[in-house]
Amino acid sequence: MKIPKLQLYTKILIGLILGIIVGIVANQLKITPFFSTYIKPFGTAFIRLISMVVVPLVFASLFVGTASLNDIRKLGRIGGKTIGYYLCTTAIAIIIGLLLANIFKPGSGLTKATQDQLLANYSAEAQTKIDTALKKPGIAETLIDIIPTNPIRSLAEGEMLQIIFFALILGIAITLLPQEKGAPVIKFFDGVNEAMIKLVHIIMEFAPYGVFALIATIIGEFGLGILGPLFKYSIIVIVGLFLHIAITYTLALKILAKGRIKLRRFYRGIRPAQLIAFSSSSSSATLPVTMECVEENVGVSKEISSFVLPLGATINMDGTALYQGVASVFIAQVFGMDLTLGQQLTIVLMATLASIGAAGVPGVGMITLTMVLKQIGIPLEGIALILGVDRILDMCRTIVNITGDATCAAIVAFSEGQLHEPGQEVF
Ligand code: ASP
Repeated sequence: MKIPKLQLYTKILIGLILGIIVGIVANQLKITPFFSTYIKPFGTAFIRLISMVVVPLVFASLFVGTASLNDIRKLGRIGGKTIGYYLCTTAIAIIIGLLLANIFKPGSGLTKATQDQLLANYSAEAQTKIDTALKKPGIAETLIDIIPTNPIRSLAEGEMLQIIFFALILGIAITLLPQEKGAPVIKFFDGVNEAMIKLVHIIMEFAPYGVFALIATIIGEFGLGILGPLFKYSIIVIVGLFLHIAITYTLALKILAKGRIKLRRFYRGIRPAQLIAFSSSSSSATLPVTMECVEENVGVSKEISSFVLPLGATINMDGTALYQGVASVFIAQVFGMDLTLGQQLTIVLMATLASIGAAGVPGVGMITLTMVLKQIGIPLEGIALILGVDRILDMCRTIVNITGDATCAAIVAFSEGQLHEPGQEVF
């Protein structure tokens, strides 16, 4: 009998499920040191491999995309739609988080003993996060910083917003040159772009093993028991994330794309990227996979995806913003503070700004949360309460972050007449 070849997606899923099972067993048997030494490196290698592609891919694809657009007004239009969509969905995400936290009051059920224990266990780690956050520049400075003084350094350091800025204006500049001067440069970067995509395909063959190693180590280290005292809080975040996908994105796709995007095909198409987001907790590292899925499986043109997605991976984090809404109210409730409507609106504003300023890497949402808390006067040490479950929630919110980017790409592509019949499914 001929055994049918498994699709790569199915293999990744198997890797994920096996990882969870093995992780739970390892946690129970207390053999995690073995995992950290021998299994974790496979996961780390996988993350490094996909991260390796991010900077050249983003630069080359964005530059080629802008240069071939040949029209600055079109760029402004696409940019406006993209940023508008990102801001609106982020605000909706936080409102969902705030509503759930106000209705279900996760912070009021925590006993005094549990509170003290959590605060004691995690206070040192919380202090490090607070210190990192306080060192972060303010909003105005963050905006000015988008202009790189040395683009090569930004490329070397992987500073995404700066890279995006440079690629965009260089792309515009090249369209103003005579054809014979500009064409070879565009051709060169187009080749680089294609090579990067090929590289993503090769690296993805390794994904099932990488995902297995990542998940087994994380679950092995933290165990599922960690959710215990923070169960209600964690469930509220997860339910909120689910609702945001099920309601906000689904309605946005239905209404804004006038039913042209088949929901099943869309969600099926981006599943591989969601799995990688879940296991890597990084929307930046997932970016090359998101781009491939959105182009090949959903049918979004390269021109749109190479603009909307890198921008989204950096500035659009609905999952993170939703979690910050729940976390702020949770911590306030534990400290017995009643947040006024004004304070909750401040959370919406601050969390939206925080999600723009944050890079798509693991755990960053927790750091920018301190910005939000500080603004409203909630004790910063409160993050010690939720640090224990942060990793698991980070995995879930990263799925939402990349799903939001993908919905935006599909909707903008539809509105620009750049949504094609998807080709053969990749991954
Ligand atoms: N890990 C998230 C991301 O990369 C950011 C966060 O919420 O910490 O999208």
